[in-house]
Amino acid sequence: MTEQWDVIIVGGGAAGLSAALTLGRARRRVLVVDAGEPRNRFASQMHGVLGHEGLDPADLLRRGREEASVYGVAFVSDQVVAVDEGDRGLSVQLAGGETILARAVIVASGMTDELPDVDGLAEHWGTGVLHCPYCHGWEVRDQRLGVLGTSEISTHQAELVRQWSARLTFFTSACGELDPEVRRRFQARGVELVDIAVEAVLHDAGRFAGVRLVDGSEVALDALFLAPTPRPHDGFLAGLGLDRDENPMGEFIATDPAGRTSHPWVWAIGNVVDPTAKVPMSIGQGSQTAAAVNTALVTEEFDEALAARAHHGTAADHWESMYAERSRWSGRVNATMAEVVRNLPVGDALDLGCGEGGDALWLSEQGWRVTAVDISPTAIARAADGDPDHRVTWVAEDLATWRTEETFDLVTASFFHSRVDLPRTEILRRAADRIRPGGHLLLVSHVFETEQDIPPWAVHSHAEHDEAEQPVLLTPQEEVAELDLDPAQWEVVVQEVRSREAIGPDGEQTAMVKDGVVLWRRRDGHA
Ligand SMILES: Cc1cc2nc3c(=O)[nH]c(=O)nc-3n(C[C@H](O)[C@H](O)[C@H](O)COP(=O)(O)OP(=O)(O)OC[C@H]3O[C@@H](n4cnc5c(N)ncnc54)[C@H](O)[C@@H]3O)c2cc1C
Repeated sequence: MTEQWDVIIVGGGAAGLSAALTLGRARRRVLVVDAGEPRNRFASQMHGVLGHEGLDPADLLRRGREEASVYGVAFVSDQVVAVDEGDRGLSVQLAGGETILARAVIVASGMTDELPDVDGLAEHWGTGVLHCPYCHGWEVRDQRLGVLGTSEISTHQAELVRQWSARLTFFTSACGELDPEVRRRFQARGVELVDIAVEAVLHDAGRFAGVRLVDGSEVALDALFLAPTPRPHDGFLAGLGLDRDENPMGEFIATDPAGRTSHPWVWAIGNVVDPTAKVPMSIGQGSQTAAAVNTALVTEEFDEALAARAHHGTAADHWESMYAERSRWSGRVNATMAEVVRNLPVGDALDLGCGEGGDALWLSEQGWRVTAVDISPTAIARAADGDPDHRVTWVAEDLATWRTEETFDLVTASFFHSRVDLPRTEILRRAADRIRPGGHLLLVSHVFETEQDIPPWAVHSHAEHDEAEQPVLLTPQEEVAELDLDPAQWEVVVQEVRSREAIGPDGEQTAMVKDGVVLWRRRDGHA
């Protein structure tokens, strides 16, 4: 996994999956790494979650994964052990040994509830031993309830639980000496106060049954509430030195209202930063933060496009000078394109980025009615020169803004990549929309897997640019994933790398080159 993801989400609980869903729908490349231990896994029912009342928490996560997967979100079962600054973006290290790269990271890794050291307590956590009356109070309403004080702030929890039952005992020994005024408040509401420390939990046939005190006496109860100590799962972020905030519940990574930490590309949501966030709040934070992350990515893309334009000039300038600065290119048809098209029924064709027209002229010689578009007026003028009978419709336009109402049986794009401003995916998807049922989309691209794959006549220009400036060359598999055409409408007919002998622009030099070929067919009945 050496590819760079737009966003890696650490944690596939309510917060992480909600962020994943929104980012997937925003067409981001998202990977969720999840260790599979959500905080509420001890409970069999979830409450107070609108539309999902009483649902098993595991069902919510299963549905969430299914929903996010529809939009291309990928999942890995593993544990993140470190997040560090990389050369380009962030590097995320997994316990399994892999290191993966991302432009942005959302930390949604939750927390552990550290329970007081009382014998037998942990066995009943999530069933007879509870923390949140909003989540489980209704189910034990009017029953014999206890609140096990763990610190001074437990008095607040004891007051709260009284809302669900008048049969309430508050075990105060870990709360320090209770203020007489506080005692009077509890007594006024009929809350029984027990100052003797709790030693163990009682059970009856495996069910929680009450507590035993250090003096040996027992108190029968139906459920016991307590406030555990939150331990956020954030140790793997140590290398980033993020700012932290302290509140009465502990120390947490500091975030702004959108979830951004002190690192511009790291966000944190859900229980890892807020132990009070229940499922709906975690889902809400996921949704809000996903939008903030997407906005940051969008902004970066605009900034980079502007910088690239300042560096190289506009796409039109770039291609115009490319053609103007050198004499005519070969004008020959691309052999791989010809090999594939020979098997297709002749009709109307659109050639994207036609250059000096070698492919378009060959297509028209085979009987195709061809529209050929290129951004460079010089290239189009040269193409038209080679077509004295005006068999091809030549269009000098920027494909980023060019629109057509016509439909085609074939859209072809050979070596349609650029180091300047090319919204390639958008252009290809728009062109695919203009293909008739039964028609085809054909992409032929360079495959430069090693230095040897670069033909000698391109080595010089390749070497002039550093890696960041090279056009992105996708393998056939990556082309299919990137274009992401609906499989209900499209079938991939060819997806492979082919080798061929190519002739250089001087018409003499030859070399073996590799072409990536992808041919889609629009299924019949889908326009
Ligand atoms: C017993 C109990 C019952 C509850 N009942 C309710 C209820 O009824 N209603 C309600 O609204 N709320 C309830 N809650 C609260 C609920 O659990 C939280 O609101 C919710 O889990 C928070 O979601 P999250 O995504 O922040 O964290 P989690 O759901 O805990 O998800 C975090 C995920 O990140 C993974 N992870 C952690 N570290 C790493 C790492 N380093 N690398 C990769 N993955 C990692 C974890 O394994 C986990 O899968 C309950 C809590 C408890 C303890």
